[in-house]
Amino acid sequence: SDLTALILDRIRDVPDYPKPGVVFKDITPLLADHAVFCAVVDALADGFEADKIVGIEARGFILAAPVAYQEGAGFVPVRKKGKLPAAVLEESYDLEYGSATIEVHDDAFSPGDRVLIVDDVLATGGTAAAAVELVRRTGAEVVGVSVLMELAFLKGRERLTGVETRSLLIV
Ligand code: IMP
Repeated sequence: SDLTALILDRIRDVPDYPKPGVVFKDITPLLADHAVFCAVVDALADGFEADKIVGIEARGFILAAPVAYQEGAGFVPVRKKGKLPAAVLEESYDLEYGSATIEVHDDAFSPGDRVLIVDDVLATGGTAAAAVELVRRTGAEVVGVSVLMELAFLKGRERLTGVETRSLLIV
């Protein structure tokens, strides 16, 4: 679609970041383009009915906060371990080397809340799958995962079976 082409045009490949051999997808040119940023925010949320929008640190915050505003929903941050001030639930997942832990405040959701999880890039799916697990453990309902871009060769979608997963651009 037209939006797909606009997104593709405004994502910059940065080779060897954050380490040699990795090509980092840099979304800052897209964020700096008002029209494309707005179209992306609308498309991330379109058709989902949610009470809370989860943003995953850090670029997920940038997309999820305007989605929450647009949807008339609340915003909930999921953060890396040790960053949230009050009582948390945590979830760990494996990385290529080692593991990572993400956290959410244990009172972030009300019973029955419908939750949409938003992030910039779906890569291996480890982060998104951990966020789904975290939300479910609070008793809230995950209505979907919505990302700007999916790196299909990393098969992250396979870790999100049973979760409606939307990517605005698949590369
Ligand atoms: P995953 O857990 O392997 O799916 O990695 C997804 C997480 O890493 C997301 O929170 C992304 O923000 C981040 N990420 C992975 N690769 C990239 C990239 O190329 N550009 C921007 N963020 C990335």
